Amino acid sequence: MSKLMKSWVESANSDKSPFPLNNLPYGVFSMGEEDPRCGVAIGNLILDVAYLEEEGVIVLDDEPVLDLPFWNEVMELGQATWADLRARLIDLLSEDGDPVLLDDIEMRSRAFVAMDEAQLHLPIVVSEYTDFYAGKQHAQNMGAILRGSPDLPANWLHIPIGYNGRASTVVVSGTDIRRPLGQTKAPDADMPSFGPTKRLDIELEMGAIVGANSAMGQPISVDQADAAIFGYVLLNDWSARDIQGWEYQPLGPFQGKGFGTTISPWIVTAAALEPFRAPTPEREKELLPYLAGSKDGLYDIDLEVLMQPEGALTATSLANTNYNRMYYSAAEQLCHHSIGGCAMNVGDLLGSGTISGPSRSEYGSLMELSWAGREPFMLETGEKRGFIEDGDTLTLRGTAKGDGYQIGFGDCVGTILPAISTPFETK
Ligand code: CA
Repeated sequence: MSKLMKSWVESANSDKSPFPLNNLPYGVFSMGEEDPRCGVAIGNLILDVAYLEEEGVIVLDDEPVLDLPFWNEVMELGQATWADLRARLIDLLSEDGDPVLLDDIEMRSRAFVAMDEAQLHLPIVVSEYTDFYAGKQHAQNMGAILRGSPDLPANWLHIPIGYNGRASTVVVSGTDIRRPLGQTKAPDADMPSFGPTKRLDIELEMGAIVGANSAMGQPISVDQADAAIFGYVLLNDWSARDIQGWEYQPLGPFQGKGFGTTISPWIVTAAALEPFRAPTPEREKELLPYLAGSKDGLYDIDLEVLMQPEGALTATSLANTNYNRMYYSAAEQLCHHSIGGCAMNVGDLLGSGTISGPSRSEYGSLMELSWAGREPFMLETGEKRGFIEDGDTLTLRGTAKGDGYQIGFGDCVGTILPAISTPFETK
């Protein structure tokens, strides 16, 4: 197991810190009215890498690429630059590295900001968003709930199933989500009805961020896909189950998913997660040869779902599971995505699919935790829930545990606002 890399930033050396030197995740931040720019989390601070680039302490390209409100330009520079940047940051921040920052008191005072005083923004321009369905337990649970049988669809063990989602409503943690309006139909009703969803849900997922372009018509192998993934975020694929249930056949989810997807603020790089690689489970049906790769494609990342009703002092932990529960890796998904000729772009976001483990305490959606509302669960406040109510705050948390350190993502949080009451009134 890999050990803590020590930094002269003291707060980064605590085994409680989600942002030790081993992590160095990438985000976009601003202070007050300043323009948002690239930053790197270290301990309880943000390193202003745009400033260090301006000072010539970090050099990635002829033009500045860090004084921007997204990491897409850095991704565009390619894998060798990604590695150079990480190596430079480790050199600048480690106990026994280049002292240029450590020794310059004025530069040091300008180069860091307190994380809890900064505003965090979406770290990338999301080019497109694709959502997969790669959790076997989740697929079985949804089959049992919706169709009365946990049998997987005939294609499930052969294809990493996905659909093209909406990039326009991917938002950073902390953004409120408005309860969506839509069309639903009760099984015994003659006609559908219109109104706010009554079955608002989360989906616990990991998001993989594609960091390399591929040309239309040019497939990407699993190994090429693995190398093309820049990093990972936590992803909450908010879902309106009643809207989804009425609309999803025959073409898949649409309005039940299009109203919001929340990601955590820090991109944890694939490089930082390298020590935590985990294999996909044994294949129940041999995959077709084009889906073969040489590396373990999953990561050992503990995941947690928490719910906090409005006014409650504490959040209730609803579920604990692990990203290594997935059946397909992000690299397999990316390969499959490109295999027919679909061009992939820097900033493409791939949702893993809901991550659910084998027991109920490991289920990654409220649909499963309350078994479609039929078996509500209890919160620490004494309230019962089947689905999300207005004012509820949902949090996803992820941690990879090393020897004396941990890798965190920053919480992935969203609070639900009541549905809009006058939908067509112009503001
Ligand atoms: Ca999903």
